[in-house]
Amino acid sequence: MSDITPIPLFSAVAANAGLDLITPLKRVLQRHWYVLGEEVSQFEREFSAYLGVSHCVTVANGTDALELALRAAGVKAGDVVATVANAGFYSSTAIHAIGASPLYIDVEERTLTLSPSAFEKALEHKPTAVIVTHLYGQLADVTAITGMARAAGVTVIEDCAQSHGAQRNGKQAGSFGDVACFSFYPTKNLGAVGDGGAIATNNEAIATAVRTLRQYGWSAKYHVGSAGGRNSRLDEMQAAILREKLPNLDRWNAERRSIAIRYNEAFADLPLRCPLSTDSDYVAHLYVIRLEKRDALRGHLHRLNISTDVHYPVADHQQSAYRTVSSPSLPVTEAACREIVTLPCFPGLTSQEVEKIIAAVREYFLE
Ligand SMILES: *Cc1c(COP(=O)(O)O)cnc(C)c1O
Repeated sequence: MSDITPIPLFSAVAANAGLDLITPLKRVLQRHWYVLGEEVSQFEREFSAYLGVSHCVTVANGTDALELALRAAGVKAGDVVATVANAGFYSSTAIHAIGASPLYIDVEERTLTLSPSAFEKALEHKPTAVIVTHLYGQLADVTAITGMARAAGVTVIEDCAQSHGAQRNGKQAGSFGDVACFSFYPTKNLGAVGDGGAIATNNEAIATAVRTLRQYGWSAKYHVGSAGGRNSRLDEMQAAILREKLPNLDRWNAERRSIAIRYNEAFADLPLRCPLSTDSDYVAHLYVIRLEKRDALRGHLHRLNISTDVHYPVADHQQSAYRTVSSPSLPVTEAACREIVTLPCFPGLTSQEVEKIIAAVREYFLE
């Protein structure tokens, strides 16, 4: 028997329940200042304080954050940038935009995040920077990677677009490397009501460079002091909304994590692989399981009105637009692409919905 109301993969209605988003918007409308004003400065202060880093510079979206972070770190056309190939092509988009080349590195079997040992071997290709993605909300082994990168003079860029608020030993995602990039796309753990992004860093030179690059490369109004600039600004309305939401981030992450814990317990005896950690180093941006024949499970859940997705179905080095780029062998990445399925896991997903999803998954294996 299938319920008519579909269970979505994310619900903005559920995520925003109980929030007053009108007051912050009114504040902006009554001030009549829409770009780079009070709300943006306050949010940058509040978010850098939350992360425990000295600087936050907001930009228009997460992909711009990656590109401007690379530029600010001095990455140029022709440089090599190490990254993973299983994180939705965002880092590749930024690398290609600069004219640099991605050096794809395989991921760890257990977490699907950048493998430190594969990174160590890849250092022979002399990358200028490495982008470490905390995929699905799971912190990568960023301390080990940062140690090797520092010794080799490689800049570490954390991609925190899926990991706002994840922590290890009290340190926040975004405070481990040289510069971190965030997206505030509506479905992210901290989401705006439109596009948004930011970089966070303790490096003042990088912060200043991104501040310049996000506004035409201006050193002062109408004076272009830096090449490679553009218009990439967070607007005041989005900043005001993000200020309203930030105090709820830890509560939402706890809610996501408690759903992940229930799934992990309920699926422990099934022939599938669950997320490794349900500790503070995983903020359950996406709850991703791995199994053979994932399409059959997806079909079963679809018939029961339960949404699923695949994050992500095509590895970066196999995207059709970039097939000509020499393709490395990435066995873990490629196997994971065929086996992963994302189940609904978001703040506001009800207990009954979680139970329904658990029952449906168990039924698929045990029927
Ligand atoms: C969403 C996302 C981005 C890009 O953010 P946009 O704001 O959509 O440009 C970058 N990296 C990862 C891992 C993401 O999930």
